[in-house]
Amino acid sequence: MHVPPAAEPGRFEDLDLRPELHHALALLGYEEPTPIQSTAIPAVLSGIDVVGRAATGTGKTAAFALPILQLLGEGRRPKDPVALVLVPTRELALQVCEAMAQYGRQLGARVLAVYGGAPIGRQWKTLEDGVDIVVATPGRAMDHLRRGSLSLAGLRTVVLDEADEMFERGFAEDIEEILSQTPEHRQTVLFSATMPPRIDGMIRRHLRDPLRIEIAAEATVEGEAPKVTQKAYVVRRSDRAAALARILELESPVATLVFCRTRTDVDDLTEELNGRGYRAEALHGGLGQEARDRVMSRLRAGTAELLIATDVAARGLDVDVLSHVVNAELPTSPEIYTHRIGRVGRAGREGVAISLFDPRQHNQLRFIERVTGCSITIEALPTVAQLRAAHLGRVADEVRQLLDAGDVDGVPAGLEALFDEHDAAKVAMAALQLAARHATERLGDDNVEDLAARLLGGRQDRGREKPGRPDRATRPERATRPTGSDRSSGTRAEQGGMVKLYVGIGHNVGLRPGDLVGAIANEAGLRGADVGSIDIKDRFSLVEVPAGRADQVIKALRASTIKGSKTVIRRDRDVEGSPRAGARPKPRPKKG
Ligand code: AMP
Repeated sequence: MHVPPAAEPGRFEDLDLRPELHHALALLGYEEPTPIQSTAIPAVLSGIDVVGRAATGTGKTAAFALPILQLLGEGRRPKDPVALVLVPTRELALQVCEAMAQYGRQLGARVLAVYGGAPIGRQWKTLEDGVDIVVATPGRAMDHLRRGSLSLAGLRTVVLDEADEMFERGFAEDIEEILSQTPEHRQTVLFSATMPPRIDGMIRRHLRDPLRIEIAAEATVEGEAPKVTQKAYVVRRSDRAAALARILELESPVATLVFCRTRTDVDDLTEELNGRGYRAEALHGGLGQEARDRVMSRLRAGTAELLIATDVAARGLDVDVLSHVVNAELPTSPEIYTHRIGRVGRAGREGVAISLFDPRQHNQLRFIERVTGCSITIEALPTVAQLRAAHLGRVADEVRQLLDAGDVDGVPAGLEALFDEHDAAKVAMAALQLAARHATERLGDDNVEDLAARLLGGRQDRGREKPGRPDRATRPERATRPTGSDRSSGTRAEQGGMVKLYVGIGHNVGLRPGDLVGAIANEAGLRGADVGSIDIKDRFSLVEVPAGRADQVIKALRASTIKGSKTVIRRDRDVEGSPRAGARPKPRPKKG
C-alpha cells in the first residue's frame, strides 16, 4: 500500500506518545512532526511493517525511534534488546544512538552503538549487562552474533536505516543473515533514499505487506513558478552565522526571513547574528498577532533586518517586503522547501533563496532539487576580498552621489594640516576605506571554512580567492574583542552624542540584545538604529542611547517590563574601579 505523507502538517500532540517522549521533543525544540514522522509514527506504532523513502535530514530517525521507545516496558526490562537498528556507518550508528538516548532519556532507555573499530570487549560487557536497543553496523553485528554476545531472540522491531547505503557498502549478505536469525513475527521498518531493484527484492523476501511512504512531488504549474534565484552554500553547522554574515553582506537584502528547524536554533542564531551587529529578531510561535505585526513593521521600517523563525512561527506572516529567504539548514522535505521559498518572488518581483547545508546533506539537496524540479546552484562563499571590494564600491557610489549633488563642504578649520601633510587623493581613499570597513566588521572573527570546493571536487570557480581568515591588516577589529555583544561600542558615544544606561538584568534572565532594542524601540519610540552598543553581562547590561533621548528612555522603560519583569534602569555611573570597569571595551573609531 502506498501513502503520501499527510498533506497538512500534523501535531505531536495528536500522536499517541508517552508524556516522557513529548517532554523530550519539547526540550529539543521540535515544534511539529516532519511529514515522514506524521505518517510513519502511527504506522510503526501499530506494529505493521513500513518502507519509507526518505533521505538524511527528513527526520526519519525520530520516525522509527519514537515508536520503538514508546513500546519499551515499564520497570525492570529483559536483558536482551527489543529493537535492532542496522545502519551503514559508524558515524550514523553514533548519531542514531545519541538521538535515541536523547529521546528516551526520561524513560531510562538503554541504547548501545555497536560498530567496527571500537573495542569489542566493552560492547560485549554492555550487552551482557542488558540493553534495550542496539544500533549496529551489519559487520560488527555479525561479529557479536558469531561470538554469541548478541541475542536477537527478544527482538520486536528491526530497522534497516539507509538501506541503499548498506547495500552500496556490500552489507547485503550480512543483512540477510541477521534477518534470518530474528524472530519470525518481528516488525521490520526500512528507510532508504533510493529504491533500487535489489532493495525491492529484499523487501519482498523479508517484509510483510509493508506500508510504503513516499514523498510525492509537488506539481508546479507552468508559468506560475516564482522568480526566485536559488543558491546553496555548504558549511559546517557551527559556521552558519559566520557564513550567513558573509553572504548577506554581499547580497544586501531589503529584508530577510531566516528559517530554522527548532526554537532553540532560532534563539541561538538570533543571538549570534545580533552579536555580529545585525538587527535580528526571533519570531516565536507563541507571539500574538499584535506582536507579529510589530515585528513586521520593524522589518518594513528597516529597524530589523533579519527575522529568524521556525516554519510554525512564520505561518501566516504578511511578508510582502521580503527580498531573501534563508534556510539556515535544509528543510526536512521538498514540500517545506517549496513553501519557504514561495515567501519571496511574489507578484512578479524577484527574490533570492539561500540554503546552508552540511556536507552530509548533499543528497538531501539533490533530492529537493529532483522533487521540486528547481535548480539550486552550489556557490562558493564570498571571500573577504570580494566583500571588501563590494563595500568600497558601494561607498564610492554614495560619494559620487554626494559630489554630483554638490553637497560637500570645504575643508573645516582644524583639518587643514591633514591635507597639508598628505595628498588629497590619498586622504580621500583612506576615508573611503574607513567608511567601507563598517560592513566588513560584521564578519566578526570569521574563519569559516567553505566546503564547496571539497564537495564538488574542485569544480568551483578557480578564479576566486580561497576563502579564509581575513588578513591581519584588514581583519575587522571586532575579531579581537572579547564578546560579540559589544558591537559598535564607543562609536556614537565617542562623539559625545550617546550615553550609557545601566539595566539591572543580563544573562541571568536570558536577556538578548534584541530584547533591549525591542523594548527601547517599542516603549520609548526610538528607531532600532538609534540604539548604540549593547553589552550584556551576567547580572546587568549596558546600552547606549542618544544623550538627548536618555531621560525619555529611562522613564519609558521604568514604566514597563523587560523579559516580563520590572528592572532598575538608570544612567550608568561608570565608576572607576567598579567590578565591571575593567571589562569595558575601549572606544574605537566610528563605524559606517
Ligand atoms: P534525521 O533525518 O533523522 O537525520 O534528522 C535530521 C535533523 O532533524 C536532526 O538534527 C533532528 O534532530 C532534526 N529533527 C527531526 N525531527 C524534527 C522535528 N520534528 N522538528 C525539528 N527538528 C527535527
